[in-house]
Amino acid sequence: MKRFLCLLCLVLLPAQGGGQTAAAPAPAADTKPGDDVVMSFEDYEPKSTLVVPEHPKTRAKYPFIDVHNHQEADEMTRAQVDKLVADMDGLNMAVMNNLSGGWGETLAKGVRNLKGPYPKRFTEFANVDFKRIDEPDFGANAARQLEQDVKVGGAQGLKIFKNLGMFVTDKNGVRVHTDDPRIDPVWDKCAELGIPVLIHTGEPSPFWSPWDRHNERWLELKQYPSRRRTDPRFASFEVTMEEQHNLFRKHPKTIFIAAHLDWLGNDLGRLGKLLDEMPNVYTEIGAVLHEIGRQPRAAREFFIKYQDRVLFGKDIWEPSEYHVYFRVLETRDEYFDYYRKRHAFWKMYGLDLPDEVLKKLYYKNALRIIPGIDKSAFPS
Ligand SMILES: [Zn+2]
Repeated sequence: MKRFLCLLCLVLLPAQGGGQTAAAPAPAADTKPGDDVVMSFEDYEPKSTLVVPEHPKTRAKYPFIDVHNHQEADEMTRAQVDKLVADMDGLNMAVMNNLSGGWGETLAKGVRNLKGPYPKRFTEFANVDFKRIDEPDFGANAARQLEQDVKVGGAQGLKIFKNLGMFVTDKNGVRVHTDDPRIDPVWDKCAELGIPVLIHTGEPSPFWSPWDRHNERWLELKQYPSRRRTDPRFASFEVTMEEQHNLFRKHPKTIFIAAHLDWLGNDLGRLGKLLDEMPNVYTEIGAVLHEIGRQPRAAREFFIKYQDRVLFGKDIWEPSEYHVYFRVLETRDEYFDYYRKRHAFWKMYGLDLPDEVLKKLYYKNALRIIPGIDKSAFPS
């Protein structure tokens, strides 16, 4: 019993330091049982002794559309695109949606590079140049550019990065709110063109919390101190997200996909209320699998209840990490590893989603709201 308590202390002790950045000494290899060992939280990597059925996945059960991916498509060679498609084939990824399309010739070139050789395997979302926010006709000009990017360049949606609402400022240094009326013509243009807006606003709420032993993202904020949002130049998490929700309310004819479960993966009840209130809003699961996989029962209920509103996304293109997504969504496995400790120091559990729910998540919802995707690769 004494050793068990001791072990817990070892895990928790270093985090008490909070502000310390010096690395704790590595545990000595020749430690005798019973010795006190001080070890960093970052060094503690216990190997699970749990023996239960395991169903690792390397390929999705159905062809899927990844709505949240980033490629520098305008700079890719044909060989790189071929390799990308081969890796997609290995995962059963039928369509990749590239959110980093840019605008103008950059966008058009990216679309040519990807869709020239593989017209059915990619979609590309355009972006808005917020550096022009101070121009008198910013909104109208940005809407016109977007229309051209769709009709001439081949974009099939708009992606808004988290710079809006956090880092974009006008010439007076004032933060541009996500629901700033200067941008309104862009949202209205999306409704007119029938394209969705995938919008990433804010960041995980612990980034705004004190960096201390109670912070769930302690490790990430240690590794990336610039991600701490306690600086007063940022609005609070609540205000940052409320501005986004106001935008959704103001433009009910525009379809929005709130990225990363709208950073409410740790409060699915609240996310559900937002979806109930706003039928024009969808969401996706990029980079928040760790939230789903730690609450398999609540998350399963959420995915079933909101089966028409959630899309599959991943964010960072690392094929092996998709395997964990498939395992969480498709199996009922217990207590298995996630892939990035700074997101989650906890284990994953499978949701065992029903086939019809899985199909909607993997492709049916995306086919409904992203125009122009060839449906022939997908089961009915
Ligand atoms: Zn992203």
